[in-house]
Amino acid sequence: MKIFHASAAPSGPADPVHFTGEATMAHIDGLAERPLVNMYRVTFEPSARTAWHTHSGVQLLLVIGGRCRVQKAGEPAHDVAAGGAIRIEPGERHWHGATPDGPMTHLALNIETTTEWFEKVSDGEYAGSAAAKE
Ligand code: MN
Repeated sequence: MKIFHASAAPSGPADPVHFTGEATMAHIDGLAERPLVNMYRVTFEPSARTAWHTHSGVQLLLVIGGRCRVQKAGEPAHDVAAGGAIRIEPGERHWHGATPDGPMTHLALNIETTTEWFEKVSDGEYAGSAAAKE
């Protein structure tokens, strides 16, 4: 058994190069080793979101507060309430963040994953994601 205390997890503002709006992140690297699992707890303020990105491995998002807006390129966005989970497959171009009406916190489990970042989700794209959701 190995215990990872939250108090020991490095935390701070998310990198503004890859995020729009305010987000704070704490991470536990090496939560598992074979396969390598890194965990990120991210709180997004309303309307905050990641840039478009892909992961080389699987990413699991566990929504633990608020509603997570997530969009795969070429598809409508979805809002996922706390308690829900999202599996993002390797190579899927996507973004995730808060809805406009409240903050959102998710845990991200990145499994044998590196992240490639692309352009930010513009205000127009973000507004359009609301119109497109079911
Ligand atoms: Mn992702």
